[in-house]
Amino acid sequence: MTPWSELAAANEVFAASFPHGQLDRAPRRGLAVVTCMDARIDPLEILGIRVGDANVLRNAGGLVTEDVLRSLAVSHALLGTRLVAVIGHTECGLHGASNDEVAARLGATAGEADFLPFADLEESVRASVERIESSRLLPRSIAAAGFVYDVRSGRLRAV
Ligand SMILES: [Zn+2]
Repeated sequence: MTPWSELAAANEVFAASFPHGQLDRAPRRGLAVVTCMDARIDPLEILGIRVGDANVLRNAGGLVTEDVLRSLAVSHALLGTRLVAVIGHTECGLHGASNDEVAARLGATAGEADFLPFADLEESVRASVERIESSRLLPRSIAAAGFVYDVRSGRLRAV
């Protein structure tokens, strides 16, 4: 079995009793979540929400980049989201990393590439919230809040 056939077989089982066919495109909770790609984080589980409740935007670091702002704008304009939770986490791979280190592991020269490493976790989350609050794409009526998720305790802490 290849990794792909294993995943496809699991999907056959899932689709056989698919429970989400009636969901609306707009998130029920009016919520968007921005968080890291870290495999230890299940945004729905940690927030007690379900499929259909939120738009979830993930990238390395859970950072509010230009593309995340684009997605949040679409999420608000077309899907009616009004709340944005930005969730950083402890032991993030980008925390304390450097562009040179990432480039070296890739066998590349750092060149122009910015992998967006950060030195201070809480400051990184605050900066992401600030980017949402000051974005020209997003109305001031959107409420954004920052959190740090502890991957050892499962606890979410407001920052
Ligand atoms: Zn991370």
